[in-house]
Amino acid sequence: MPLRSPEQYRAALRDGRTVYYRGQLVDDVTAHPVIGIAVNHACIDYAMAEEPEFRDLALVEGPNGPYSRYYKLPESADDLLQRSALIEQATALGRTLVVLIKEIGTDALFGLHVLSKQVDATLGTGYHPRVRAFYEHCRDNDLALAVAQTDVKGDRSRGPSDQEHPDYYVRIVEQRPDGIVVRGAKTHTSNTTHVDEVIVLPTRAMGEKDADYTVAFAVPVNTPGLKLVASPFGSHGESKDPFEFPITARHKMVETTTIFDDVFVPNERVFLCKEWQYAGPLAIGFVEFHRFTAISYKLPLVDALVGAAQMMADYNGISRAAHVRDKLIHLASYAETLRALTHHAALKCQVRDGIAVPDPLTVNMAKYHFAHNYHAAVQDVQDIAGGLLVTAPAAEDVFSEELGPLLDRYYGGRPGVSGRERLRAMNFVKDLTSSDYGGYQEVLAIHAEGSLEAEKLMIARSHDSRRTVSLVRQMAGLTG
Ligand SMILES: Cc1cc2nc3c(=O)[nH]c(=O)nc-3n(C[C@H](O)[C@H](O)[C@H](O)COP(=O)(O)OP(=O)(O)OC[C@H]3O[C@@H](n4cnc5c(N)ncnc54)[C@H](O)[C@@H]3O)c2cc1C
Repeated sequence: MPLRSPEQYRAALRDGRTVYYRGQLVDDVTAHPVIGIAVNHACIDYAMAEEPEFRDLALVEGPNGPYSRYYKLPESADDLLQRSALIEQATALGRTLVVLIKEIGTDALFGLHVLSKQVDATLGTGYHPRVRAFYEHCRDNDLALAVAQTDVKGDRSRGPSDQEHPDYYVRIVEQRPDGIVVRGAKTHTSNTTHVDEVIVLPTRAMGEKDADYTVAFAVPVNTPGLKLVASPFGSHGESKDPFEFPITARHKMVETTTIFDDVFVPNERVFLCKEWQYAGPLAIGFVEFHRFTAISYKLPLVDALVGAAQMMADYNGISRAAHVRDKLIHLASYAETLRALTHHAALKCQVRDGIAVPDPLTVNMAKYHFAHNYHAAVQDVQDIAGGLLVTAPAAEDVFSEELGPLLDRYYGGRPGVSGRERLRAMNFVKDLTSSDYGGYQEVLAIHAEGSLEAEKLMIARSHDSRRTVSLVRQMAGLTG
């Protein structure tokens, strides 16, 4: 089984794909000044597999040799814990930004594995062998994957077929003997510009009249009719100085509007076609894995918030102040609660058809705990750091012959902390919390992997209220 090197991964991206950036067709995504940063960031995945320090975590042994651990179908709590540890480590190497070129795609593959068996057993369809063949293709060629689930959705209070026009959700416009033709747009699709394949899933439950909108499939990114419109968020044309932007000068994801302009999908790549009863279960089946991935990749981010607050409290000489200690305790408890819940979600997994599914109640509690408290955590970090987060001088001045020594002297902190050292620390905290990236992480916290309300809904669904009501009835002396 061939494992790809970072260079082989890059080379495969020069395949004639249709990518637009600010109105221009991108000839080679690897050479693009913005998307190229995202490609370099994604290379973390392939580089880890080559490094002796990470090899055991990044790879598993298969019958034909090692393959990427992301593709290991989880069979036990231990498999889920190892997967979580890999996601956490890769994100730490990304300086709090998840890599996400195999994490989300394998979440979709696991969800499809579980669901396709159910559909085949009930309706006599033949989806599972197709899912299995596609999974083996991705695993054996060490491919990078994006998942386009979120539709553009139009009026959120209406279903796909009740909208003002029929194209607010991706739909099947033609069925041929050898495949289907799909039309519509997905949005917010992460990393589509620089992966090999995109997997498409329904975003919600469907009714019978929405059958044409019930579709799951996978296509290579260079498929004719697939058009990617890259979001420029976080890039203003200037290249970023690594002293001023220690995270985002080197690490980036790119989201696309993913347009299916009458794209032909051959039958062997179609995993659901009009079986509307299964749109909801597939959407949820994917999310059950994907929110576990999410809480795993949030861990380096929350650790960075805790560390940033501790570092700035120390540099500013305020570690002993009562309000600071209080904030540091809150932050540590915020992060460690997330870690404990993440591990618990793996330990309480349910094995369905041989695949270990993380405990939905704990996963959603963890994701909600993270997202609901994220902005407050950022507030504490910004409070401790100070206003220099948004007023610090530029790298050119900090390193200039004339101004450098002055700024080094004036911006020092507690005894022993020079101005340059404190500015370097401050710039990290700025990039983490107060830059475009800080805003990106805040919106990501609220919306990515589903909104807060979606998590609350899953908590309500998964919690066993009969147990608690029965307990209280007993305590109250009520019978029947
Ligand atoms: C950085 C980033 C990366 C992402 N990456 C991916 C990706 O790779 N692939 C992918 O498929 N998706 C991705 N997403 C999409 C993410 O899952 C969605 O943002 C999320 O599901 C919310 O959808 P939305 O953005 O359309 O917001 P909306 O659904 O419009 O939500 C806005 C508000 O409307 C509310 N709302 C929505 N519908 C209803 C309703 N019927 N009734 C009442 N209230 C309602 C919501 O609760 C929320 O409060 C990404 C998002 C972000 C921000």
